[in-house]
Amino acid sequence: MKLITLERDPSIKINNDIIYYLNPDYVYIPSQDIWIDDRKFIHKNSLIIAPFKSPVSGYIIGTKNDYLVIKNDFRELEKKEKRFKKKITIKNILECLDKNNDKLLDTFKNQTKFTNIVINALNDEPYVYNNIFILKENIDELLELLDELSYIYKTDNNYLVVKNIDTMIINECLNAIGTYPNIKLTLVNDEYLLERKEFLENILPIKDNTLYLSATDLLRLNNYLLDKDNTTILLTISGSALKESRIIRVKKYTLLKDILDNYFEIDTDDYQVIANGLMQGFLVPDITNFVITDEIYAINIMKSSKVREDACINCGKCLEICPVGVNPLSGKNIKSCINCGLCSYICPSFINLKAKLKEQIKNER
Ligand code: SF4
Ligand code: SF4
Repeated sequence: MKLITLERDPSIKINNDIIYYLNPDYVYIPSQDIWIDDRKFIHKNSLIIAPFKSPVSGYIIGTKNDYLVIKNDFRELEKKEKRFKKKITIKNILECLDKNNDKLLDTFKNQTKFTNIVINALNDEPYVYNNIFILKENIDELLELLDELSYIYKTDNNYLVVKNIDTMIINECLNAIGTYPNIKLTLVNDEYLLERKEFLENILPIKDNTLYLSATDLLRLNNYLLDKDNTTILLTISGSALKESRIIRVKKYTLLKDILDNYFEIDTDDYQVIANGLMQGFLVPDITNFVITDEIYAINIMKSSKVREDACINCGKCLEICPVGVNPLSGKNIKSCINCGLCSYICPSFINLKAKLKEQIKNER
């Protein structure tokens, strides 16, 4: 299968410095069905309703839409639980993942040896840079953890995979990696879908039992093991409608509008907001009520494009490009669709095939 490089607008450039917005006036906890007294004091990290914990300390001031609103008192007060760094052992890894109900548990369960570990710092979506900036922000801790994992899982090879266009991080990696001769920096082309294990494993010269993690996964594991603060999220906010595209670390459950008002300038009134990537993400209908939850990692703010959907000209490009053999026109093999968006991307008639397939899958359920 031939992988493709997505076209990009060269005018959308990301600033290399991460900004931090860790003191929002309010946070908005998803909490549809609960009722808690107004004015009740909430400690940072206290459980509101599973799995949502408050990322700040402060007072409940009421509800808004489906969210419980907490006014930040900026004191970051926690009920004191003794925090301690866990020794990195297979048992502790499993315990941490289990305690946090983390999807990585299945990956580690019943494993005592991996032949290879692959850490990818790739992001498929255009103008999204989370994994590479997570690596940049935490490179020493992440390399140290990779080294420890390599020791306890008795690996033969350890790969750190970075796109060859990410030159700013390649130099930083080369400096830091020098002390870890067992970790190989591997550069790959800027090709769509390599962030996914099933595509990356086709181009790496490795087989056998391999542990694949993204830089985001590795940081999460690191934070569990070191019992570190887990109340923030790294976000890419980029796009053609912004004066400047930036990476920002924010408190969980911050309102998107508060982030934009404080740190971003939108150049035009005619724009659209897309969450989690232009290819695979979704349109945000109303930024004033959009809250940054654990699932959100990117916001693209793009000048509205005035494309008009035309009739299908039967060129067959959508069929040819589909990486998993779906026929987006007839719906053949539709169950294999991975929602990658390539069929819509390539269509010369601007038909939103991905949305039509999604609808079809929903109706078939
Ligand atoms: S969205 Fe589905 S049908 Fe379209 S190219 Fe991707 S996998 Fe194929
Ligand atoms: S790419 Fe678009 S125009 Fe070409 S066959 Fe598919 S739907 Fe029709």
